[in-house]
Amino acid sequence: MARKKTLKDIDISGKRVLLRVDFNVPLDKEGKITDDKRIRAALPTIEYLREKGASIILMTHLGRPKGKVVDELRLDPVARRLEELLGTPVKKVDSVIGDEVSEEAAQLKGGEILLLENLRFHPGETSNDEELARSLASLAEIFVNDAFGAAHRAHASTEGVAHFLPAVAGLLMEKELEMLGSILENPQRPFTAILGGNKISDKLGMIDRFLDIVDNLLTGGGMCFTLLKSKGMEIGDSLFEEEQLESVGHTMRKAEGSNAQLYLPEDVVVAERFEQDASYKLVAVEEIPPGWMGLDIGPKTIETYRRVIAESRTIFWNGPMGVFEWPAFEAGTREIARAVASSGAISVIGGGDSAAALRKFGLEEQVTYISTGGGASMEFMEGKPLPGVEALLDA
Ligand code: ADP
Ligand code: MG
Repeated sequence: MARKKTLKDIDISGKRVLLRVDFNVPLDKEGKITDDKRIRAALPTIEYLREKGASIILMTHLGRPKGKVVDELRLDPVARRLEELLGTPVKKVDSVIGDEVSEEAAQLKGGEILLLENLRFHPGETSNDEELARSLASLAEIFVNDAFGAAHRAHASTEGVAHFLPAVAGLLMEKELEMLGSILENPQRPFTAILGGNKISDKLGMIDRFLDIVDNLLTGGGMCFTLLKSKGMEIGDSLFEEEQLESVGHTMRKAEGSNAQLYLPEDVVVAERFEQDASYKLVAVEEIPPGWMGLDIGPKTIETYRRVIAESRTIFWNGPMGVFEWPAFEAGTREIARAVASSGAISVIGGGDSAAALRKFGLEEQVTYISTGGGASMEFMEGKPLPGVEALLDA
C-alpha cells in the first residue's frame, strides 16, 4: 500500500476540518457507553487539530440503524462523553446534513467542535451516495480520516467524501497503518501468527496470506475444527463450517508446501453442551467423542505453543483460543496471552474479542499494540486494499 499523507503533511492551521472518527462504542440497555476506548483513541487527533486552531466537524456511525432515524442510536451520549474527556464543549446537531448542519458548521470558530448525527441514519452513507459525500465535503476545507475501524468500507463518509476535499490520515489511522504495516513489511524473525476465534470463514484469508510470510502459524479456537475435519478427524459437535471444507483443503495443501510451520491443537477441552457449566473433560485431539464439542485448547497444546511464542520476535494474534468468557474454557486463551505478554517480542493484537480477552486477564498494557479495527485490521492483514485508506492523498 502506498504511503499516505497525514494531517502533519498539510497546513491545517485555522482551517475547517471534516474529521471522520470511529465512535462506534458499545451501549448498555439504558443507552450508557460501556467502553469509551474508541473515543479516547481519537483524542490525539482532535487535540492536535485544536492546537492548530482548526475548527472540527466530527462524524461517525454508531450501530446499524439501516438508513433510518433510531432514537436509541443518537449520538448525544457520545457528545457528552467526548466533552468530559476533552474538557471543552462539543456542539451536536440532530441531523447528518441539511440547513441546520451547514449553518452550525459555518459558525464554528477555531478550536470549536461540532458533532454530526449518526451517519447511518442517512441511507446514502452505506451506499456511498455521491450527493451525501458532496454535502459532507461542502462543510469543510480538508478531510481527515481517523476511522481505521471503518476503513474497509467504501461509504460516503470514508471513501466518497475523499473525492471532494484534500484527504489525509489522522494520527490514529497513521499509527494503525504503521503498526500493522511494519510487521508485514519487515518483521523480525521468527514471526509467529496466532489465529483463533469462532469462524473459519472469517479467518481463512489471513491463514492463506500468513502461510506466505510467517515462520509459525499457531491455530486454536472454534475455527480450527474445520481444519481438523479437513484432515479427516472426528470433531464431534465442535464448530464446523461445511461449506468451507473445499477452500480449507486447498489451504491445508498449501501449508504442506509452505515454509511456514502450521500448528494444530494436540489436545482439547471438550464439553457436552455449549453452556458455561456443562460437564467437560480433556481429550487428545484424535479422541473427541461423538456429541461433545471442543471449547478450548488443552495443556499439551499450550506447552507447545508457549515454546514457539517464547522464541518469536514478532507476533500477530487474532482470535481467542477458546470460549474464554467462561472460566472452564479460559485457560488456553489466558496462557497464550501470558506467553505473548512475556515473550519480549513485538506483539500486535487485532480483533475485538481478542482485545477483550487481554483486558480480562489484565495484560492490555503488556503487548506492543492493540488495533482498534476488527474487520479492518483483518482485511489489512489479508492484503486487501482498504477503500477508506486508498482514497487518501499519496505521500
Ligand atoms: P476477534 O473478535 O478477536 O476477531 P472472533 O470474533 O473471531 O475474535 O472470535 C471470538 C469468539 O470465539 C469468542 O466469543 C469465543 O467465545 C469464541 N470461541 C473461541 N473458541 C471457540 C470454540 N472452540 N467454540 C466456540 N466458540 C469459540
Ligand atoms: Mg469478534
